[in-house]
Amino acid sequence: MRQLVGRLRSGLSQLFSLPEGYEVALGNGGATLFWDLASLCLIERRSQHLAFGEFSAKFAQVVQSAPHLAAPEVIESAPGTCPQPHPDEDVDAYCLTHNETSTGVQCKVLRIGFPGQLVLVDGTSAAGGLPLEAGSVDAYYFSPQKCFAADGGIWVALLSPAAVERSARIGSTSRWIPSSLDLNLALQNSRLDQTYNTPAVATLFLFVQQLEWILDQGGLSWAAARCRQSASIVYGWADRAAYATPFVQDPDQRSPVVATIDLSPEVPAPEISKVLRRNGIVDIDGYRKLGRNQLRIGLFPAVDPEDATRLTQALDWVAERVGVTNHV
Ligand SMILES: *Cc1c(COP(=O)(O)O)cnc(C)c1O
Repeated sequence: MRQLVGRLRSGLSQLFSLPEGYEVALGNGGATLFWDLASLCLIERRSQHLAFGEFSAKFAQVVQSAPHLAAPEVIESAPGTCPQPHPDEDVDAYCLTHNETSTGVQCKVLRIGFPGQLVLVDGTSAAGGLPLEAGSVDAYYFSPQKCFAADGGIWVALLSPAAVERSARIGSTSRWIPSSLDLNLALQNSRLDQTYNTPAVATLFLFVQQLEWILDQGGLSWAAARCRQSASIVYGWADRAAYATPFVQDPDQRSPVVATIDLSPEVPAPEISKVLRRNGIVDIDGYRKLGRNQLRIGLFPAVDPEDATRLTQALDWVAERVGVTNHV
């Protein structure tokens, strides 16, 4: 177990070229737990959130309902777009999402704010597939079931010295922090290549396999290039196909790891998805709450770009037949 955690921590430091003083912490519970943890251990009084889809909005809701925090500043934008954060002296943390998995939008992650303020970034579906300048953020947290092709249930956070210091300071106040949500405890254990309570070992094993495979292939720049290649195949097809259009209007905001593609009404996405599923092509359904005639295609590093090409060919083949039937 300790050997696995050790390989995970050193592999992630290498993958993200962590600056001096940055640390890798982990624990049980996934990114969703990390939101709760951050509301206790990283946000001191008030935070600013960008909310532009299911996941980014969920973190804002966690903070809105936290009795010990002031009402957060929430900057919203329509699904399919990315709002801009702005410096505000009245907050102590900026909460950004690198890739909004529900809508297929990627956002720029840049240092924002004044000295002493923290930048907390949900990198759950971005980590391992999108470039990152780790030094520009204070906490970059994620789960392993997206770009790292593992199972869920674990959170990882890349922490700056400022984040570690903030957590230690809040921990020394009278704020009540349950042990399973205590970042200081998690960090103490991580430093010993342990977790505070028993982790899902199979998840750790899969996580390390994928991480070391990415490192062997050339690291983060290799993985990001592979995702961009798959993405250019899928968005290129959507631009050409008469019945398909990329949902995200701004090409720079189109995610290279989660492509959302709108279909025209005579080609119902659920029907396409059903036919493909019967033929072994699975999990391309849109995000239901978005309520669009849409496909959502995972293009994580584990996906071979050739499979992206095959998928677009399969889509054309099925759409042609389904579309004709629906015209009659
Ligand atoms: C999947 C996802 C989450 C939730 O991750 P869990 O491991 O289920 O907690 C949070 N944020 C983003 C951006 C995600 O893609």
